[in-house]
Amino acid sequence: MDAFDVSPLCPAPVELALEHVTFHAPRLVIAAHARRRTVTCPLCDRAATRVHSRYRRTVADLPWHGLRVRLLLEVRRFFCDTASCARRIFTERFPRTVAPYGRRTRRAAAALEAVGFAVGGRPGARLAAALGLDVAAATTIVTALRAADEPASGGLRVLGVDDWAMRRGQRYGTILVDLERRRVIDLLPDREAATLATWLGAHPGVEIVCRDRGQNYADGARAGAPDAIHVADRFHHLLRRFPDPPHQPPRGRNATTDGRLVPYTVFIDPQLGRIGMTEREAIAGKRRVRIAELPMNHVARALEVDETRGLMKAVVDAGTGRILGAAVLA
Ligand SMILES: [Zn+2]
Repeated sequence: MDAFDVSPLCPAPVELALEHVTFHAPRLVIAAHARRRTVTCPLCDRAATRVHSRYRRTVADLPWHGLRVRLLLEVRRFFCDTASCARRIFTERFPRTVAPYGRRTRRAAAALEAVGFAVGGRPGARLAAALGLDVAAATTIVTALRAADEPASGGLRVLGVDDWAMRRGQRYGTILVDLERRRVIDLLPDREAATLATWLGAHPGVEIVCRDRGQNYADGARAGAPDAIHVADRFHHLLRRFPDPPHQPPRGRNATTDGRLVPYTVFIDPQLGRIGMTEREAIAGKRRVRIAELPMNHVARALEVDETRGLMKAVVDAGTGRILGAAVLA
């Protein structure tokens, strides 16, 4: 290994020293350890040099010539010898390489996020796998998103994040939706990255974040759930215009999460977005319905964002003319 420069294999050469590269089919394993001698205690900020113990941590990195790559990091635990500090032992971090509890390097996470965000759920997972990106993560996208149209079990995995008008046009908060259960789970008082990050920190286990392209939600989700995969919800700008049902309590001070219509997207390919009742549900409820269909190339908003494939479909109560539900397939 001394014969040639292997530093390009190292995600952050300033931070990491390479030990060796081995091939364990089907992947390349790169062993590395921290370059620095001293680290600072995260609590008191004083230098620490006394090593308590060492262990190995595995994170996925970017593929190398189509081969999957694992980074085998040697991690040290240090004693903090500052008498006044409450922390006795702490673990060193690799801020340029990987998030504190991350399962993949920052650059691998960024690549996966770019793919997921550019092309959405299922196609994104296929593309990620084809590129040799962290297959476990690609599988996660497919399984989690497929489950979005089936009853969910277990904890929150697929989180939708969106703006929410407390007073229309004046104050905005953030609405958080469990997309597997199609339920609003929380309302945050603002749209700040830090607020979302704190919420995510208190609710671990989120694997996928569906969000718009806003920077605040991107930053908040990255900080609060570093391992989550980001997916763009292509329909949210169409579906969010759907009015609340008449029995809905007025927005404002007394707004609640109850009874609110939750638009959701199923990440099949083509994607399906839906709000309110489906045709089948309306008929099962003994309603007489009419179905209105509109190709997407007739929808002004769809033309504007150049998403003209597919169609919109509305389920209308034949008696009252009220729209009961709508779907977008594109
Ligand atoms: Zn300390």
